Amino acid sequence: MNKTQLKKIKETVLKQENLVFDQLNKSQKADIFKFNDTYKQFLDQSKTEREAARQIIKAAEAKGFVNIDTLPAKKPPSTKKVYKIFQGRCVALAVLGKAPLVAGANIIASHIDSPRLDLKQNPLYEDLSMGLMKTHYYGGIRKYHWLALPLALHGTIITSTGNTIDVTIGEHPDDPVFTVTDLLPHLAGKIQASKKLSEAFEGEKLNLIAGSLPLGNDREKNRFKLGVLNLLFETYGIAEEDFVSAEIEAVPAEKARDVGFDRSMVGSYGQDDRVCAYTSLEAILDLTSPDKTAIALFFDKEEIGSEGSSGAKSSFLEDLVSDLLFISGQKTDNRSLRKTLIHSSCLSADVNAAMDPDFKEVHEALNAAKLGFGICMTKFTGVAGKSGSSDASAEFVGKIRRIFNKNKIVWQTGELGKIDQGGGGTVAKFLAKYGMNVLDCGPAILSMHSPFEVSSKADVYMTYLGYKAFYEDSE
Ligand code: MN
Ligand code: MN
Repeated sequence: MNKTQLKKIKETVLKQENLVFDQLNKSQKADIFKFNDTYKQFLDQSKTEREAARQIIKAAEAKGFVNIDTLPAKKPPSTKKVYKIFQGRCVALAVLGKAPLVAGANIIASHIDSPRLDLKQNPLYEDLSMGLMKTHYYGGIRKYHWLALPLALHGTIITSTGNTIDVTIGEHPDDPVFTVTDLLPHLAGKIQASKKLSEAFEGEKLNLIAGSLPLGNDREKNRFKLGVLNLLFETYGIAEEDFVSAEIEAVPAEKARDVGFDRSMVGSYGQDDRVCAYTSLEAILDLTSPDKTAIALFFDKEEIGSEGSSGAKSSFLEDLVSDLLFISGQKTDNRSLRKTLIHSSCLSADVNAAMDPDFKEVHEALNAAKLGFGICMTKFTGVAGKSGSSDASAEFVGKIRRIFNKNKIVWQTGELGKIDQGGGGTVAKFLAKYGMNVLDCGPAILSMHSPFEVSSKADVYMTYLGYKAFYEDSE
């Protein structure tokens, strides 16, 4: 066998692994950087699920989307783009297709909540000469990540009279920030360094410094807590009891940044899963007249198991689909709703873990996702023997693969770590219960769930192109 023959055989039988940057021409490479500049702005403006929901709706309205809940029973024929918001934390966008909705929709489902520290309902106390605030962590955090870091507070307070007050403190360069203190190495030996990592950092010690100016003289009890509360009353008109009906999240105060000399990566809090939210948002905003109805879902509560009325386990999708049938003048009976859902196709848009050069041992190299190799298809998630995973069908993976190849989307496949190393899940199984085909699909990132997650700009852009190709497909 000569060299040419061998080369031909290799090209025919071997699976290619393509680096996005090798596959693109100069102008496409420039597009990658342009796209990521607006992505970073989205991250900075969307540090909580409520803020992300607001940004999504603002972008949708600018492109002519209208609130589905304001439409009459039979919408004006020109209305093709609609959105729905639920509880301010869960959003859907839809572009009506040429085919009737019961033929099924193309759905992309991401989540807009991220791990963080929530203020407790009775947060304020004082100790020594400081006012402090108790937190309860939300989602899977590594507790030590949140120490000795500037944190901003974002949230919503419902006052005793029912007023809503939105607060953001710590994002403007002139704003103060908050922080959870850590122990100096000199004294950390016994209570941190010699302990197991899982025991060295306690959730009840994730308390934020809130102030140190006392109110009144030294005979006053709780004068540091009083100092903080008095300031809050003067600034926002809120009292201690108002924290009971508040959702205030402590998040990293840092902005999204370029990473590397070559600026080829994005470092930021909250990329899980606002990277998929942003890329699917941009993909659906680009659509004008798809064959099938396109739906982008942006769920809340994924990081705590998709629970609650704004999570993927809720009836939000059913409610949306029955609204879509209603405004399209189609039958809205239960059977039509079921048929629409069962005929739909869904990409569960979430991140996978990219192989880390320093922690290769938790991955199985042949099946691990790598930074820069494009959008990652994850056939199954789960733990141990794929437990808790919806495991996409070969037929559906085949369809997505065909769409990606046809549209020159650079893709890879990935498993979340090697067997029995750990695992995780996404919203996939909560959509699969309707009978629709679902495949996990999104970029792979480094330092997932940390205050500074790292993504490849090339993967972010390829994810956007991949989602767009999925929406535009009529197969
Ligand atoms: Mn996620
Ligand atoms: Mn996550």
